[in-house]
Amino acid sequence: MISLRSRSNNERILAILMRQIEKMLKDMQSEGKDLSLLKFKKFQKTHHIDCNCKKCEEAKRKNDPHMRGLSEDGFKVYVGGKKDD
Ligand SMILES: [Zn+2]
Repeated sequence: MISLRSRSNNERILAILMRQIEKMLKDMQSEGKDLSLLKFKKFQKTHHIDCNCKKCEEAKRKNDPHMRGLSEDGFKVYVGGKKDD
């Protein structure tokens, strides 16, 4: 259950993170990166195929790899596309 206090705590964390991301993007822009070419991609790295933790066993039993335990969970930012040469 989510109490009011932890929800406002989550909002504070979110606000801090968005400021950090905003700063990162502004830094990239001042480095001359073309942010119109920017892409965000969700990134997840699951446990090793031989892992026997609770989540991975459940995933194996239900034959659903999306239920595997995660060792990394986040997103990646790409600035890609055209070259200036
Ligand atoms: Zn696992």
